[in-house]
Amino acid sequence: MNERLLPGRIRSGWGVSILFLCLMALSGCCSHEAIRVNLIPRPAEMEVLSGYFQPGNTTVDDFTTVVVDNSRMDALGREGYELTVDRSSVRLTAATQTGIFYGKRTLEQLMTDKGIPCVRVSDRPRFAYRGMHMDVSRHFFPKSQVLKMLDEMARYKLNVFHFHLTDNGGWRIRIDKYPRLTAEGAFRTQRDWYAWWDRNARRYLPEGTPGAYGGYFTKEDIREIVTYAAERHITVIPEIEFPAHSDAVFIGYPELCCTGKPYTTGEFCVGNEQVYTFMEDVLTEVMELFPSKYIHIGGDEARKVAWATCPKCQALIERERLDGIQGLQPYMIARIQDFLASKGRVMVGWDEILHNELHSETLVMSYRGQKGAIEAANRGNYAVMTPGEVLYFDWYQADPSTQPRAMYGYSPIKKMYAFEPVPADPESAARNESIIRAEFVDPAAVEPIRADRADRIVGVQGCTWAEYIEDEEQQEYMIFPRLLAVAELAWTPQEKREWSDFKVRMNSHIPLLQQRGLNTFTLSDEVEITTRIRSGNKAVEVTLDCEKYPAEIRYTLDGTPPTPDASLYEAPFTVTDSTVVRAAVCRDGVIRSPERKQLVTLAAEIDNYYPFDVPEIFRLIVPSTIVRYRLFFLGGRLCAALKRSRTWLTLG
Ligand SMILES: [Zn+2]
Repeated sequence: MNERLLPGRIRSGWGVSILFLCLMALSGCCSHEAIRVNLIPRPAEMEVLSGYFQPGNTTVDDFTTVVVDNSRMDALGREGYELTVDRSSVRLTAATQTGIFYGKRTLEQLMTDKGIPCVRVSDRPRFAYRGMHMDVSRHFFPKSQVLKMLDEMARYKLNVFHFHLTDNGGWRIRIDKYPRLTAEGAFRTQRDWYAWWDRNARRYLPEGTPGAYGGYFTKEDIREIVTYAAERHITVIPEIEFPAHSDAVFIGYPELCCTGKPYTTGEFCVGNEQVYTFMEDVLTEVMELFPSKYIHIGGDEARKVAWATCPKCQALIERERLDGIQGLQPYMIARIQDFLASKGRVMVGWDEILHNELHSETLVMSYRGQKGAIEAANRGNYAVMTPGEVLYFDWYQADPSTQPRAMYGYSPIKKMYAFEPVPADPESAARNESIIRAEFVDPAAVEPIRADRADRIVGVQGCTWAEYIEDEEQQEYMIFPRLLAVAELAWTPQEKREWSDFKVRMNSHIPLLQQRGLNTFTLSDEVEITTRIRSGNKAVEVTLDCEKYPAEIRYTLDGTPPTPDASLYEAPFTVTDSTVVRAAVCRDGVIRSPERKQLVTLAAEIDNYYPFDVPEIFRLIVPSTIVRYRLFFLGGRLCAALKRSRTWLTLG
């Protein structure tokens, strides 16, 4: 690895490395601009040399010398590759065709108007599971959109598409043995989720009803999607929700729920043997379509209300000596886990399946924070990190007052990028927990993953829940560019990840996403003010940041509003007394962003470094949609403060 490119040695991005320029001068190279390379995800090892290869009118497949060398498996793994570009040739080596595929994706990103910069890359992913999830139940998205997302996943080296096919919004996959699943449960009266679901007026409609909203995938559609994904080295994991989130099933098959009536419950009847026949039949048809080793069965959020008064469920508790109603869900999950294993497949479920004794291979998806993954790993199971508080694309990505309706929460791309998928020490576990809870968490209060179980975290995933994502445009707006942060979490070694570096590259991808017809969010102009104590608790260092790059941040310290003539922010500065920092983003001589204003006082800053509990009253009066967090480091410890809207609250 060329040290010129190591984080910390560079000021802002690879292209402005002074050391780089000096070395170029010393080596007698003719003077030229430093070459900026904006690869996402950032490769494990890369050295940028001088000059370009000129591909002319040829494509990657034409000009690349490809070497598949199985003896390189130890060095490169199944998915790694080595790429050497010099002025006259492009050479790509990998142990498998998958590695070659990823090397070509890198080459595509390297292409510029000037040619392909000369580089030496040695690259392999950090995680084997690099996922994106798509909910097609709450709102239906057509096959064309699924294929478009698979293209983008491949471009950013993601390799698992988690296909959330069934839920209470509608059943979205044709099952031959149970045709009423889609004939009765795939269409509904309204598109708008709030009007349809939250106002409790929910009604499904038979297929073919004029004006009905919905849809489903035929088996032919599914085969096409699975093949298209496989060509891009992406595995499709289907999810069939069980035992809850199944309201749509009981419209056509009411006998499978406890009451025997539609619109009464979302859970299957645990005590009805017919339910297991149904589920095994459905999964059999699903397994015929999806070659994936992993099959996701949901396993989350059962309300258990109908089970409490159902004679069949009560009889089962008696017969199997289950732990009351709480024992019913694990009973069902265990049967499905065994069924899938008998067919040579492995069950995946949301982290509530930890109530079960799990097979060693079973995969747990940690969605309620990171604790499910930590528990699974420490118990010896495999886990994927997809904490809702950090990696859900349906959360707000900027000030909610500037954004279309989202689910709730606040997960800007910088917050996603800050997450560490393998919290194998108390500090990283506490740092994650602070991000998840938006409050200070003491490292002593969080159990990390045992070091010898760190390899049980197989990867990360971003989830696209679709209650408030009505159409393709909105889906793209919520996914991009945040998917790029997930891709880098999943691929790039932790020590090579750095926000200031990622920010530059990520900004350069925004116009590329747009050129490919994606309705990406174009990043926020909001200024972020962060502070840390300096000079033996005698000064406060103030850092101003913005997602956009480059961004001209203007600020004042004299209480006046920032104007285009105010001080230009270039680097962190210190203040020693009570100071009001006012900052905004300026472009083309005009202030463009809302002003960010913060009183920085030494006493308050010192207070902020101590842990505090958020008062109960605060939780009650402030909706989670507008709670933000601010994080600091002091002596290696992470501290945090909450703020409401644009005003910091003094807490603790
Ligand atoms: Zn029942």
